[in-house]
Amino acid sequence: MASELLVNTKCPACESADIVKVNDFRMKQKGGGVLPDDYCVLQCLNCGLWFKDQFPSAGALTEYYNALSLSNDQWNYEKRLPHEEKLDKILKELPKGSTVMDVGCWTGRLLSVHKHIHKFGIEPNEASAEIAKKNGIHVLGTTPSEQSLGDYKFDLITMIDVFEHLDKPADVIRTLVHHLRPGGRLIFVTGRTDCFPVRLAGTSYWYFSVIPDHIVFLNRKFVNWLRTNLVIKSITAEPMCHYHFNFKKYLKQLIWLYIWRYGNPNSPFVPKAFFRLPIFKRFANLKEIIICTNWKDHYFITIKK
Ligand SMILES: [Zn+2]
Repeated sequence: MASELLVNTKCPACESADIVKVNDFRMKQKGGGVLPDDYCVLQCLNCGLWFKDQFPSAGALTEYYNALSLSNDQWNYEKRLPHEEKLDKILKELPKGSTVMDVGCWTGRLLSVHKHIHKFGIEPNEASAEIAKKNGIHVLGTTPSEQSLGDYKFDLITMIDVFEHLDKPADVIRTLVHHLRPGGRLIFVTGRTDCFPVRLAGTSYWYFSVIPDHIVFLNRKFVNWLRTNLVIKSITAEPMCHYHFNFKKYLKQLIWLYIWRYGNPNSPFVPKAFFRLPIFKRFANLKEIIICTNWKDHYFITIKK
């Protein structure tokens, strides 16, 4: 059983107590260590944020990321992902000598190929941070705190696949905006709840269940909340596919999603009696949702100061 768990009775972004369950069921996840073995997702009726009902403490989370093994790096794709291609264009257009910080820079994958800018990073995993330093990234600390960022101001801050891991997401966004130069940009990429596969699979969608350290999830309502609660020029959110689109995989995953919801005796949605029909017996072993990679289930968010 996980230790040091904090039960959420308020929204971790706006602190409103006006929160409800998104779905009534609890889902299993591969917890262990500091992470719980199951979850229920709550929704804030004030700012729109979705979040898991229990979090490890901030310290436990940082320790967890530090302990992740580099050799187990299943997320280190050889090809540039769609949002990385988009960011490469933006980075290339920056004037020489611009200051850029990547929050959660890992080994420096995003910035290291760009030679004309001053590169900074934040990284909780020590082994990755060491490689990032060799790749020309000036690593400022393990978390994006005032202590790590000091008097630094940036022309661009990027934060890819990090927002969903933050136990205090609004505080982090506010801190990062504070460390932008006037006219600077914060660009972050994260999963979204207002997309087709989440409407279909609810909180059993893989983005919630397969990665147990995904703890908060945003949507258009939360983006609008940021717009009215930050001192910024603008904020835009563009729906994006996290991986390159593949039509064959799309069809397979679409059929699979419908089976998961409507033809699966372990489905959290449909009354069990429905599955006594013999046609559904073949899906009796279906307990875990597959990873779906062909929907615009992420937002590419740009904040201008
Ligand atoms: Zn809220």
